[in-house]
Amino acid sequence: MEAVMTLINQAERIMVLTGAGMSTESGIPDFRSAGGIWTEDTSRMEAMSREYFERRPRDFWPKFKQLFQMKMSGSYEPNAGHKYLADLEKRGKQVDIFTQNIDGLHRKARSSSVYELHGSIQTAACPRCGARYGLSHLLKEEVPECTAETGDHAVCGAVLKTDVVLFGDLVQHFETLYEKLDKADLLLVIGTSLEVAPARFVPEDVSRIPGLKQVIINLEPTYCDHLFDLVIHEKIGEFAKRISAAT
Ligand code: NAD
Repeated sequence: MEAVMTLINQAERIMVLTGAGMSTESGIPDFRSAGGIWTEDTSRMEAMSREYFERRPRDFWPKFKQLFQMKMSGSYEPNAGHKYLADLEKRGKQVDIFTQNIDGLHRKARSSSVYELHGSIQTAACPRCGARYGLSHLLKEEVPECTAETGDHAVCGAVLKTDVVLFGDLVQHFETLYEKLDKADLLLVIGTSLEVAPARFVPEDVSRIPGLKQVIINLEPTYCDHLFDLVIHEKIGEFAKRISAAT
């Protein structure tokens, strides 16, 4: 505990890379652990692809809503881990969070610099005219459509595309992640198996940046634990409570 506290206390600019494990203690299942959402039904992965959306947009939305029903309800709350990261900012640290999660919990915990690599469940856009819509519109109809008026007073009517990055879509903010890494003193990797590209390449790239320390806090070992300066196999909520009590 002392070693990680020293690294955090000494760092002025902290970069954080989070994954689904960040939110399991808020009640949201992760990706691949036993009972995780993709272990139950692999056909879901195919349905959550860009290719499926483009082929069958009207079939996509009921499946999407069924899978993300709870996250779309906004009923989840940040846990001690999200709150700890938000508190670090109050202690004067620059904390930039790059998350693979789409649940919005870092923002809900009031972290101010959050980059959602895999997009957000809160919004969608019209693939035809670009009009943007929030969650309330997405929840009104089973298949949300664009209600923007076209020039001849007709309604666009195209099926909206979620802002969640689907399989086959490009990950967002990745250039910014590397820009911020160049200026960071410390990288905290939290609650991710690091199996999903491009996040999986970050620890190896970081190990080549002189002076940049990296710490992983993850329940289970990952394939690249050996690249980290410190490895902590613990639940993030428990870790956050312990470190907060010791600070
Ligand atoms: P993953 O499921 O592959 O790995 C999660 C890791 O977190 C596991 O190694 C597990 O041991 C660890 N973990 C679980 N609970 C933990 C806890 N309380 N504290 C610390 N570690 C814990 O998830 P990933 O690497 O983020 O995979 C990426 C994909 O999962 C992304 O595409 C992401 O969009 C998606 N996803 C997001 C959410 C969400 O928004 N909350 C939920 C499920 C999946």
